[in-house]
Amino acid sequence: MFDPLSWIPEQLELLNSLERRRAVHTRATQQGATITWKDGTLLNFSSNDYLNLAADPRLQEAAQLAITREGWGSGASPLITGRGEAQTALEEALAKFEGTEAALTFASGFAANAGTIDALTDRGDVILSDEKNHASIIDGTRLSKATVRVYPHRDVAYLENLLKQCGTFRRRLIVTDTLFSMDGTVAPLDQLADLADKYEAMLMVDEAHATGVFGERGRGLCEQYGIEDRVPIRVGTFSKALGGHGGFVVGSRALVDWLVNRSRPYIFSTAAPAANAAAMLASLEIIQQEPERRVAVLAMADQLRVRLRELGWSLGDSQTQIIPVIVGTEGLAMDLSSRLLKLGIMVPGIRPPSVPEGECLLRISLSFGHTQQHLDTLVDAMAQIRP
Ligand SMILES: *Cc1c(COP(=O)(O)O)cnc(C)c1O
Repeated sequence: MFDPLSWIPEQLELLNSLERRRAVHTRATQQGATITWKDGTLLNFSSNDYLNLAADPRLQEAAQLAITREGWGSGASPLITGRGEAQTALEEALAKFEGTEAALTFASGFAANAGTIDALTDRGDVILSDEKNHASIIDGTRLSKATVRVYPHRDVAYLENLLKQCGTFRRRLIVTDTLFSMDGTVAPLDQLADLADKYEAMLMVDEAHATGVFGERGRGLCEQYGIEDRVPIRVGTFSKALGGHGGFVVGSRALVDWLVNRSRPYIFSTAAPAANAAAMLASLEIIQQEPERRVAVLAMADQLRVRLRELGWSLGDSQTQIIPVIVGTEGLAMDLSSRLLKLGIMVPGIRPPSVPEGECLLRISLSFGHTQQHLDTLVDAMAQIRP
């Protein structure tokens, strides 16, 4: 009999033969600097929980109170059954924290990016996007009917040339990660803001990995660069340093009102449970009250970079808590990652499609939960596996 899905096992087998088949495992403990699996405990250098808040009891307590107060589910899109009190409080606190008129929360950072790009651009517009932007930005550009021009990573001269040819489009949108998730590199934000001014473009940035970690007050790299006023569309996520779930956009009241009316992932997706909003409100409070967390993570990253370079590893241009160890081939990246695993350390090997062919790497990410001893263990292991 004809099996309409027979192509799937065949394709999976192909992935298998290329050693590219992925599978999901189940944790036996909370997310933290160490993670226990069925077959043992591993040191975790692979999560984005940079400030070690994912398992913080204060977030749990806030969530529990909210469940008691507001129940669990939200019932419908916020446009239909409204925002819960916790969500309203979170959006107000977020706007205050970010120094913007308004803030809007989304079901995920992915939805925030994709839904914002699509809402801001249409046929006759052009989107200029860094080649290393996150998948959710790329998918946003695919959803939009606008023309898309991709520029080489952080190449402002190339971008300016593109902009010179984009004068006939109705509107221009420049979009970039501020901290690139695989390379740990930082976008040339001040130069991008200059180009946006000069060529009358909208500038949208994604602070997913920078919120909570960079800036005097933890607002991210736009704060660090002192250019918040020059970036009218700022996206972030609660799912990384804030230790929770969901995405957000901050900016003017008009921007947020437009997204409420035009962003499909906002309009056609059920509001997140109140418990998540309450936990993220607690998290927002913590990142303001405890700046020592971000200071410590960045100091650990500085230390680790020096020690890994002493061992002869190549680390590219990371200046952040994400440290790529650039190894080249997929085979070598996966082999080194599995050797670290045997030494009790989780560091993922990153390969296509997350990075281009031949630019495979080990992605080390640091957390406030790591101790000096954890770092020493990692450095010893990196010395042992050195090819
Ligand atoms: C993780 C990530 C997102 C998506 O955020 P989620 O809340 O996990 O959906 C968006 N942008 C960048 C740069 C990311 O790394």
